Amino acid sequence: MPGKHVRFLQTIQMKLIIIYVLLILIAMQLIGVYFIRTLEASFLNNFSYTLNQKGYLLAGYVRSYLEDAQGAGAEKEKKIYDDLNIVVRNLLEIGEAEVQVMDSSGKVVGASVADPESIIGQKNTQTEVTRALQGIRGNERTFIDSDKKRKRIIAMPVRSEGKVIGAIYIVASMEEMFDTINRIKQILLSGTLIALGLTALLGVVLSNTIVTPIKEMTKKATAIAEGRIYQKVNVHSGDEIGQLGFAFNYMSERLKEALSANEEEKEKLASILSNMSDGVVATDDQGKVIVMNLRAREMLQVQGNDWLGKDIADLLGLPKESVGQHVLGSENIAVTRLELSEEEQPLVVRITFNAIHRRGRGITGTIAVLQDITEQEKLEQARREFVANVSHELRTPLTTIKSYLEALDDGAMDDPELAKRFLGVTKGEAERMIRLVSDLLHLSRLDSRRAVMAKQPIDLAEVLEEVSDRFSFQLQQRSIELVLDVARGLPKALVDRDQIDQVLDNLMSNAIKYTGDQGRILLGARPLEKSWVEISVQDNGIGIPKKDLSRIFERFYRVDKARSRNMGGTGLGLSIAREIVKAHGGAIGIESEVNQGTKVTFTLPIHEPDREQKGGGAA
Ligand code: ADP
Repeated sequence: MPGKHVRFLQTIQMKLIIIYVLLILIAMQLIGVYFIRTLEASFLNNFSYTLNQKGYLLAGYVRSYLEDAQGAGAEKEKKIYDDLNIVVRNLLEIGEAEVQVMDSSGKVVGASVADPESIIGQKNTQTEVTRALQGIRGNERTFIDSDKKRKRIIAMPVRSEGKVIGAIYIVASMEEMFDTINRIKQILLSGTLIALGLTALLGVVLSNTIVTPIKEMTKKATAIAEGRIYQKVNVHSGDEIGQLGFAFNYMSERLKEALSANEEEKEKLASILSNMSDGVVATDDQGKVIVMNLRAREMLQVQGNDWLGKDIADLLGLPKESVGQHVLGSENIAVTRLELSEEEQPLVVRITFNAIHRRGRGITGTIAVLQDITEQEKLEQARREFVANVSHELRTPLTTIKSYLEALDDGAMDDPELAKRFLGVTKGEAERMIRLVSDLLHLSRLDSRRAVMAKQPIDLAEVLEEVSDRFSFQLQQRSIELVLDVARGLPKALVDRDQIDQVLDNLMSNAIKYTGDQGRILLGARPLEKSWVEISVQDNGIGIPKKDLSRIFERFYRVDKARSRNMGGTGLGLSIAREIVKAHGGAIGIESEVNQGTKVTFTLPIHEPDREQKGGGAA
């Protein structure tokens, strides 16, 4: 956290206090200087004025003495000056002023000093006095005395009838005035200091009102940054800081809303991802996997967090460049086979790549959607094979028919015996085509579930009986023995009679076809547990090799194509039988040993008037 421990000198509080104090200091300084200057000037003025007034007064006063002394005899003169001295001393001892009175020659005739005798009779030659005796006014000067005190001198002429008859001279100490000024200065200084102290104190209090909310907001903002989202500050005022507090609370509210919306979105996405039937893999811009949903993990058979940070190309078994090409190029779909383990069939997966763009940063990752198209691929394969098979099956009889007709056209027609035989063959082929087409139609009806099963309670013993009757001629011809083995008290089955006849016909004709003369066919029926009956058709014919058994119910699958075709088979008999049994909810299975015989078994539901039919049955 930056600035968690701000040094006290750097705090806003300190800055505010310093600003306050400096402002007061400058203000006081300015005021002080101006005030003292003005005060000093005014005091000085006053002092000078008073001194001048005193001077005038004194000059007026001594004039008569000086006038009297003029032309008087020495004795009288001394008497006058003694009187003058007394007056001067009495009058002007006040204010520690030192007064001297001079006659026109500059000789001191009166003085109010501690020891007047020492200067009376002496000549005062000070410039001011000389100037005053010359009749010049305004002789004033400040000086520092030997006792280091500031004093002011004035000297004034004393006139009588336009003539200067003497001068007065006053020296007054200014110390008292300066003392007063100094005292005022001190008062000003102490006032300033008190003001500064108070300002500092006030600064602490005032700045606290600004700093405290800021500190609180800083604390709360830090808390938000650390993830404790909902933080509210107390708003105490409506000023800028209060508004900042409001804005802060508003922001935190919006942040909370935005985050919860974000979280909701995330949850939605997670739930969509985990419930998707397609696999989803997301990577960063380096192609390293960062997200993978459950389906993708199942498809790619990765455990735990093994996938995290792996390269997507390695994971999907694709070359590295091809992933980049799919992401950036126009062809963003790849189909791959995932050979995951020895036992399991490879998965055929269609991968759709999409780049994730972020504004200003280009591609920041990739999303790959994995679709398991194994089934689809199988169906597609089966469809292709089926079309090829149908075309092939139809072409063979058509070619035969065409060649026989050509032979007839080429002259065979003239030989009645040959013609009859050839026509017989074409008829046979045409019949085979009709059989093939009708078988195909039957299958397609079963496939599209358009063949409505008209299920009814049927006595299977009767059905089997009838089958044996239907095939009795063929059986006799091939001298094949048919054994009927129907369990006693066999319950009725709920089946579509015509369809079951079709199943039995297909199985019986197969058994007859693939069993040598003097063979034996066993037609059995017995009840199974749980509402099912089992019907079996067993022969002791040529049997089916093990490798073909698993595919024997596929359409057009035949062990020996030529033989089957010669026998008039279409290769669809067993698949039709299986579809019909399935449509009844039953199951069909085959067991066979080469040269031992074959047994086809299927189950049918029992008719239970009171109970609902349940699915199942044995294979
Ligand atoms: P087909 O019309 O060729 O008989 P099916 O679907 O009925 O067609 O039978 C498929 C293949 O299964 C036959 O071509 C034959 O090779 C074999 N097959 C069926 N039933 C038997 C059986 N009872 N004994 C030996 N092989 C059989």
